Order: sequence, then C-alpha cells, then structure tokens
Amino acid sequence: MADDVVEAMIRKFGSHFPFLEYSWHGGEPTMAGIDFYRRALAAQTAFYGDDTSRYRNNIQTNGIGFDDEWMDFVRAGKIALGLSHDGPASVGTRVSRSGKPIADKVEGTIDRLIERHDFHPGVLCVVTRANARDPDGLYSYFKAQRVGALSLLPHLGAEPELRLTPDLYGSFFTRMFDLWMDDPDGQIERLGPFDHVMAKILGLPRSICSWDAGCFRDLLSIEPDGGVYLCSAFQGDDHRLGNILTDSVADILDSPNLHAARAAQEKALAECEGCDVLDVCSGGCREASFFSFGEIGRRDPHCEGRRILVKHVAGRLLDKARHFSQGEV
Ligand code: SF4
Ligand code: SF4
Repeated sequence: MADDVVEAMIRKFGSHFPFLEYSWHGGEPTMAGIDFYRRALAAQTAFYGDDTSRYRNNIQTNGIGFDDEWMDFVRAGKIALGLSHDGPASVGTRVSRSGKPIADKVEGTIDRLIERHDFHPGVLCVVTRANARDPDGLYSYFKAQRVGALSLLPHLGAEPELRLTPDLYGSFFTRMFDLWMDDPDGQIERLGPFDHVMAKILGLPRSICSWDAGCFRDLLSIEPDGGVYLCSAFQGDDHRLGNILTDSVADILDSPNLHAARAAQEKALAECEGCDVLDVCSGGCREASFFSFGEIGRRDPHCEGRRILVKHVAGRLLDKARHFSQGEV
C-alpha cells in the first residue's frame, strides 16, 4: 500500500468516524516491512496528534518473519499482535510459497516471544475439516504452545472441502467450549468466539461482527490501490464501494453496492425471524453465505451448528449459576 493511500485512509476516515481500529492484515502484512508501519504510525500521529483514544492498531501475522526487531516495534507502537496458526503440521493448512507446512516455524516464533519477551501471544486458528476432527488434541496442542488467547474462526472461503458441516461445527465448538470451561489451569485466558457468545447471553456489550449482525456496518476493507470493499472477504466490482484516493467518505457510504449488500443482509436476517437464539446468534456471517450459496442474502450455512453452540453455552452458564446459588462453587 502506497503512502498516499495510507494518508488518505487516515485523514478521510479519521475525520468521519469518532473511533477507528486499523487492522493490518491480508496476505502477510509484515512483508510490507517495518518502515512502512513507521510511516503509517507517523501519519496517524500527524492526524490525531496526542489523542490516542481515537484509534488503535492491530497486526495479524503468520509469524514466519516475526523477529525480535518486529516485537520491539509493535510493543513500542502499542500495536496489538495476533498470530495466525491452525494447529500442528499434521492438520494445519497453511503452507509456504513452496508448499511446505509452516506450523513448525510459527511454533518457533511463539517459543521465542515467550522466552525472550515474556509475551504469550493470542492465536487466530481457522477451523477446517482437518483440524476440527480432534478438538481434544487441538486444545491440548495450543495449551502446550502456551498461547495466551485463542480465536477459533470457521473456514468460510472458497474451498468447499475445508468447510465445516453444520454437525461438525456444532460438535467441534461445543467440545472446545467444554474443554476450556472445565480446564482447571485457566492458561488460555480468552477463547473466541465463546467470550463473545457468553457476553451476548449475559447482555454485555461485547461482540464481533459475525455474532453481532455487524455485516456492512462496522467494517470496511481498504486494498493497496485504495479500493474500498464491504469487508476483506469480498472482492470484485460487485462489492467495490469506491476508492479512498478519489471518493469522499460520504460517497463511499452511499455506494449502490453498499445499499445492495445491506438489503441482502436484511433479507438474510428475515430468514432468521422467530429463531429462539436470534438475540445471541444475530444471524451469522454473510461471507459464509456468499461462499456456500453464491449469494449474500441467505441464512448462515452453519445455522444449525450455531444454534447448538448457543444453547449449549447458555445451558452451561445456567448450570454454573445454579451451582453457585447452591453454594457448590
Ligand atoms: S461478512 Fe462476515 S467477516 Fe464480513 S463483516 Fe460480515 S460477519 Fe464480518
Ligand atoms: S441460529 Fe440460524 S436461524 Fe437462528 S439466528 Fe442464527 S443463523 Fe439465524
């Protein structure tokens, strides 16, 4: 991404929105080099001045090139760091350009961050048919890796052979939730999406787009050429909202493609009417609908699995509350 795109993004969106989270991800963001981020942070400081309450940065890396210099840089810049890691090489689907699994390299990065920087990273794990087969093994693996937090994201992309079936979604996520809830060590402090699901059940204001009907409301994706898209899942002319270099934010937010996407989101939510877990599930993710059915305005293909998960989590929370009220906890 060129400097003029970064500068226009910060100036135009920063003038329009009271708070922004800049998520540097897509491809491998460290490939842009530390100097790129030094200039980006300088552009933020030039725009926001001392008011750091109006923005945050996070970077999501595969960890391969993430050395001590990078760690010192993200710490000094107060950039939240997440590693993308789908489990051991036997089940992970991430590979290098030459097609070799990269899991051992990420393991090395995690070890180094813990040993040299006393930092237990949060990990984003994309759940596929491969690593969902053995939730107990996956949970033990990440515990042994000593990660501080884990976010489980179902594979939503174009490869149908990797997608979870609704049954596998339900069985994998409920088992992972139980393993975490019943783990006496509490080493993995946060496990997503359960922290969001529990917050929703308890009526707390904390959630992510896929559990908060947040599609086409909270998130915009900016590509290196300045193209603005619905979210990083959607590319192509049908999902393009404009260009940050040439269009005003008002025009971008009034784009016919954005109106069409929001109408499709409404259509999908109408399919959820009457669902007994709608308040918590919120209708799911349109990326999932798009890649499974070829259109945005359909019910989330993991619908049944999400329903099973919400009911399971709610049941466990109720059990805990009962035991607590009876003095058993
Ligand atoms: S499509 Fe999915 S990832 Fe994109 S904003 Fe909606 S819920 Fe989030
Ligand atoms: S469980 Fe299914 S029907 Fe209910 S809100 Fe979620 S996606 Fe919609």
